[in-house]
Amino acid sequence: MTSSEVQGRTLLVTGGAGFIGTHFVLRAVAGGARVVNLDKLTYAGNLENLDSLRGNDRHVFVHGDICDGALADQLLATHRVDAVIHFAAETHVDRSIDAPDAFVRTNVVGTFTLLEAARRYAATLPEDRRAAFRFLHVSTDEVFGSLDPPGRFTPRAPYAPSSPYAASKASADHFVRAYHATYGLPTLTTHGSNSYGPYQFPEKLIPLVIRNAVEGARLPVYGDGQNVRDWLFVADHCAAIERVLRAGTPGGTYMVGGDGERSNLEVVRTICALLDEMRPRAGSYAELVEFVADRPGHDRRYAIDPARIRDELGWRPSHSLDEGLRETVRWYLDNGDWCTRAGGSYARERLGLGRPRAR
Ligand code: NAD
Repeated sequence: MTSSEVQGRTLLVTGGAGFIGTHFVLRAVAGGARVVNLDKLTYAGNLENLDSLRGNDRHVFVHGDICDGALADQLLATHRVDAVIHFAAETHVDRSIDAPDAFVRTNVVGTFTLLEAARRYAATLPEDRRAAFRFLHVSTDEVFGSLDPPGRFTPRAPYAPSSPYAASKASADHFVRAYHATYGLPTLTTHGSNSYGPYQFPEKLIPLVIRNAVEGARLPVYGDGQNVRDWLFVADHCAAIERVLRAGTPGGTYMVGGDGERSNLEVVRTICALLDEMRPRAGSYAELVEFVADRPGHDRRYAIDPARIRDELGWRPSHSLDEGLRETVRWYLDNGDWCTRAGGSYARERLGLGRPRAR
């Protein structure tokens, strides 16, 4: 940890009780930042993740909605915030297929609301603090849609979102870009690839597979399992965000990948092999794999060209996929109770088949 990345700064972190936000908040506080953590605690938010920060006066938790502009105004001014790190979002592609409304509200309207608050706040700052202020928007590679090999997404990749989730994030990206171009707001955007690690809500592929496998349940793989993602260990993702925050060029866009391109089926088989080693059972866990109906609009491949963040900012991932998966499987084996508690009412039902809902 290079504590100097955030040391002494006051950060308004949105969505800091979610998966990546949790890791970012823990890391930032350990690195000497003061964090104001604004989170609505949706089904995906879990304050328990931040238990170790109880009583720490460098972490202030605020239960609230990013769509509440008055609250954002008040937090920015009261805490004299130096930077906004915007994680809060609805994030599960399958849920966006079943019920896109919340994605538009939080990801589009919520981001717009925060940008407006940041613009108002920046205008009140003295020259030196205004120059140092940053609005860092955490986006995804999914906004660029599917890509044939050997292409890789660069910061100039054309937008082609396939899912309502990706469309809502793309819309947010465009507002962020516009606020830099129109109002000179010092924005930064990161496009991270598929992230994984401890504390991920158990509806996402990797925790779902580990949890099902341990219980001897089927391991659902969508379609033929050949959809490729660039897997990024969550600690590396957070380190990249810190680096962009400290050294990124205002208005800049940074692609963040884990150098870990693998198909879903390869990832599932690797997890099974790790479980065979760490928690042997009669037969291999791979026997539990079950191919199920594909996700509508399922992008075939995403791939990141990390040249800009590597060459300009000196960041590269420090975990290979094999190392990251080993650490992740170990964590879920040791923290099965967390999954049960965090999973709440989620019963591992199949989501995302796009069945229309009654109004
Ligand atoms: P997550 O679903 O685990 O957590 C989202 C958090 O946002 C939760 O704590 C939730 O309570 C909070 N939230 C939701 N709506 C809110 C609202 N209206 N107001 C305040 N808080 C609200 O998400 P994650 O996987 O940690 O992703 C964080 C960010 O990173 C998202 O913006 C996502 O698009 C982006 N991202 C994620 C990945 C990934 O693979 N997980 C990859 C690239 C980018």
